Amino acid sequence: MLHKLPELSYGYDALEPYFDKQTMEIHHTKHHQTYVDKLNAALEDHKNLQNKEVEDLLRDLEAVPDRIRTAVRNHGGGHFNHSFFWPMLRKETNFGGDVAQAINSAFGGFDNFRDKFSNAAALLFGSGWAWLVWSNNELQVITTPNQDNPLSLGKTPILGIDVWEHAYYLKYQNRRPEYINAFFNVVNWDKVNEYFHAARG
Ligand code: MN
Repeated sequence: MLHKLPELSYGYDALEPYFDKQTMEIHHTKHHQTYVDKLNAALEDHKNLQNKEVEDLLRDLEAVPDRIRTAVRNHGGGHFNHSFFWPMLRKETNFGGDVAQAINSAFGGFDNFRDKFSNAAALLFGSGWAWLVWSNNELQVITTPNQDNPLSLGKTPILGIDVWEHAYYLKYQNRRPEYINAFFNVVNWDKVNEYFHAARG
């Protein structure tokens, strides 16, 4: 099985003015495509791994041969993270449902959660992601460097923000906190609820 770039269910300009069209287009067609291509290249001589879902590769990186483990971690992670990210973005959805209840009870309200998540994203040094994850039957905010994914830590992502500069530099330059603020206008809470239900079982 060759991994493929998923299509977006919306136009590149759909998240304006928060996420700009040019960034979205380059991010999807260039950055994400490159992760897909390099993951496929890494798996080329490993027929037994080609039928595995990328989630399963990331959940058990130890099962991936040494020679390609770093490539699968980076490019498989990049492919999974972005495939997770795109559908989690949409304007004008409402913070609600079971995940809202769980966030309110875990963090003492939405504002506290937002502060905690935003700080984690802002303070992460270099490139990586901040996440809301489901782990041992509770919600946690964590960060991962590079394209590492919570799945490799035994945790399930519910919500995530890409804080690589390629995600915001064209519009926000060095102002990562402004990008993080903008992100909260394009969180698709319906999808986050779906991820939450799938994680909680
Ligand atoms: Mn990215």
